[in-house]
Amino acid sequence: MTSSSYKEYDIVIIGGGPAGLAAGLYASRGNMKTVILEKLIPGGQLNNTQDVENYPGMDHMTGPQIAQAMEEQTKRFGCEIINNCNLTNVDLSTEKKLVQSDKGNFSAKVVIIATGSEYRKLNVPGEKEYSGKGVSYCAVCDGAFFKEKELIVVGGGDSAVEEGTFLTKFANKVTIVHRRDKFRAEKIIQDRAFKNPKISVIWNTVVPEIRGNGNGVTTVKLKNIQTNEEKDFSCDGVFIYVGLDPNTLLFKNKVKMDEGGKIITNEKMETNVLGVYAAGDVRETPLKQAVTAASDGSLAATMAINYIESLEDKH
Ligand code: NAP
Repeated sequence: MTSSSYKEYDIVIIGGGPAGLAAGLYASRGNMKTVILEKLIPGGQLNNTQDVENYPGMDHMTGPQIAQAMEEQTKRFGCEIINNCNLTNVDLSTEKKLVQSDKGNFSAKVVIIATGSEYRKLNVPGEKEYSGKGVSYCAVCDGAFFKEKELIVVGGGDSAVEEGTFLTKFANKVTIVHRRDKFRAEKIIQDRAFKNPKISVIWNTVVPEIRGNGNGVTTVKLKNIQTNEEKDFSCDGVFIYVGLDPNTLLFKNKVKMDEGGKIITNEKMETNVLGVYAAGDVRETPLKQAVTAASDGSLAATMAINYIESLEDKH
């Protein structure tokens, strides 16, 4: 990649979810020439969440409303946002970072990666149709909608077992359906679940289909993978925790990641590459919420400003 015909910025932010928008706000308020490159429209997973009850101070606002407020605030301080922007290549190897996309080419002193992650899907019939109508990937976001209901949780990792336990705060009964005969979750998380009278477990079983009445989930089909026996199981909701996929394909072999493809940062949001930061769900982090993503983004931008000022002192 050569740097001719590149539009120059101080900071290029890749991804316009809460992490990217907060980074854009802090960077532009810090007088940095900043652009956010967003693959769809700003807001990230906020756009898929109708009721957000846990973003401090934003009670009674929907996810898309919060996203829009964040976008307007960020733009007000001069941050550019380019929507529907698909990246084709990035070169992070030199002091000047280069980003190519179908909306033009950009160079910057700093790149902040805020591309988020996606909940891995089961890819079974009914899952997409009932997403947001009984199928969920976020107990913290949606658990309160299932007071005194019956729920299925799919998966056997820390998320499934921990979130299944959390869901018993609301639901009358939570059944964890796992494809093997033991969980991979940490023992302490398992022990807490096994002690909980509202939790039961169905082992060696997968969910090949989710059914409903058009408005919400009513039943799942369960299949025992040892006996191949199938049965219907009545429930009001299905929480799917079969892992997370970070959106980091473009950065493979360019910044250090863990074995699951999540970007590794220190507490300043610095990656192993000087001038490259990561914020939000794309990095290895124990809590994936809009508020923690925004916190990461503001920290990444503040550290980026310090770095750019140190470059200016050097040159
Ligand atoms: P995970 O550890 O990758 O576990 C995914 C689970 O889903 C596994 O039990 C897996 O089964 C099952 N699974 C995968 N694909 C499936 C499919 N198609 N159908 C049915 N089951 C399927 O994911 P996670 O639980 O979301 O955790 C992600 C990371 O965050 C992990 O590193 C975890 O330790 C960490 N985490 C930590 C905490 C905590 O420390 N409190 C809390 C949450 C998450 P198998 O077991 O058979 O592979």
